[in-house]
Amino acid sequence: MIQTGLMMEQPLLLSEVIEHAATQYGDVEIVSRETHGPLFRYTYADCAKRARKLAHALDQLGLSAGSAVGSIAWNNHRHLEVYYAVSGSGLVMHTCNPRLHPQQLVYVINHAEDEVVLFDATFAPLVKGIAAHCPKVKAWVCLADATNTPAIEGLAHVLNYEDLIAPHSEHYEWPAFDERSAAALCYTSGTTGDPKGALYSHRAIVLNALVLCTPAVLALSSRDAVLPVVPMFHINAWCIPYGAPMAGAKLVLPGPRLDGASLYELMESECVTVSAGVPTIWLSLIQHLEAHKLRFTTMRRTAVGGSAMPQSLIAKFADEYGVEVRHGWGMTETTAVATMTSLAGKHDALSPADRDAIVARQGKAVFGTQIKIVDENGRTLPRDGTAQGELMVRGHWILARYFKGESSPLQDGWFPTGDVARIDADGVMQIRDRSKDVIKTGGEWISSIDLENAAVAHPAVAMAAVIGVKHPKWDERPLLFIVRKPGQALEKNEILAFLTERVAKWWVPDDVVFLESLPVGGTGKVQKSDLRKQYGGVFC
Ligand code: ADP
Repeated sequence: MIQTGLMMEQPLLLSEVIEHAATQYGDVEIVSRETHGPLFRYTYADCAKRARKLAHALDQLGLSAGSAVGSIAWNNHRHLEVYYAVSGSGLVMHTCNPRLHPQQLVYVINHAEDEVVLFDATFAPLVKGIAAHCPKVKAWVCLADATNTPAIEGLAHVLNYEDLIAPHSEHYEWPAFDERSAAALCYTSGTTGDPKGALYSHRAIVLNALVLCTPAVLALSSRDAVLPVVPMFHINAWCIPYGAPMAGAKLVLPGPRLDGASLYELMESECVTVSAGVPTIWLSLIQHLEAHKLRFTTMRRTAVGGSAMPQSLIAKFADEYGVEVRHGWGMTETTAVATMTSLAGKHDALSPADRDAIVARQGKAVFGTQIKIVDENGRTLPRDGTAQGELMVRGHWILARYFKGESSPLQDGWFPTGDVARIDADGVMQIRDRSKDVIKTGGEWISSIDLENAAVAHPAVAMAAVIGVKHPKWDERPLLFIVRKPGQALEKNEILAFLTERVAKWWVPDDVVFLESLPVGGTGKVQKSDLRKQYGGVFC
């Protein structure tokens, strides 16, 4: 008979995370860019105190256990306090992406049944537009003091955060409950249909954050200062707001200033060692460094994901600036990171270019998740680096069912991701495309990611995107969009010639459109749906 282990049982709850940081790393700093400009600086002990005060304030607002509390906010210290106060007290932290279309924002706030919404002053105009359409919200709270809380026409009772928490005690008994209880809710971006909610449990987030701290993933420790550029309003900022306090790492929160110059300044002034964000952020950071001939002093490694990081950009960071790139993959439905670059000792002998080529793939399943690829009949395909099929994922922090969803999206216990991937014999996964971005031409298949990566390797190219455009003969053909680097005079023939040397002849795009910028969505990804809408007509 299998015996039950004789260990204590304690639920894995997020309140434990902030209390651990407060007691073990009480003097470690959190540095946060205020929405109105200045830097704010305090410690984990202070953060926990204010989270407890907010927990009292939320109790007093009369929210029942399990209700949802929305946030529309940047990465800043108040948002962090809200994360812990809401989930810790048994409520559900619903992070809203402010870049959703206002109608979709109304949809998610109503669908989640948010009873309180906390927002940064930046988003006051947004709140003004949507408040009347969110009847369940009984309090709108601006994440500021009275001076920095704007009046919102038509909204009589906008509370300000500082006045809301001020009267309350800094002592609070966090409730104990089942670790499978809901802690946070995040909606997909809703590019196809209405956004769908992923409802994360305390257990899922704690386990993900623990794994995030391990050397195999972000290797967070109390020697690090970590700057999550990835937003707290989408996919829990890849769980860094939970992992950093677990590890006792200094947390540096950039607020609304996400341009290359501001990030660089913050990284240098706060001695940041680790960061995380989408490739477009790293691109603007590198452009700033190059334009001003700057170097990093303390930055050691960065996690990148959300969309594919081109090898040319990996090479810049790793080989020119000495910053290790860890390339991960995940989605709203996977709480945070599910796969991550894993370079081993055996790769040390490789040339930098060969190592960068491995990093350009999205890595191995991290402990706690498993991945496989399947064909259209659901049959598992070999891990040979050649076969490609739909990526399936399962694990401790992978969605089993959408919030209020009627049926389970799972297939044989695996979540179908909609991404097309390969997995090699070493277990390294490579995203080839999202199934909706794949370009199907003459019965064959072109990876838009591969073409984009080939194009951005040209020294005059700042950004590139490729979409499939309907074609009377070939079904679809690739159309390339290029944003030139400042002062560069790249022309169509030159970039096509460059690509001809790097990709199969039939992959070379039929046309090139030069743009000043590409449409970028709320999570920093190029919005190919916008490009398709405008340019996806028919090639003749
Ligand atoms: P959306 O992009 O629709 O807002 P998510 O933010 O959940 O949705 O993004 C998940 C998707 O992002 C994945 O399914 C995948 O297509 C893409 N993605 C995430 N990380 C990577 C990566 N490292 N390389 C390529 N694509 C990625």
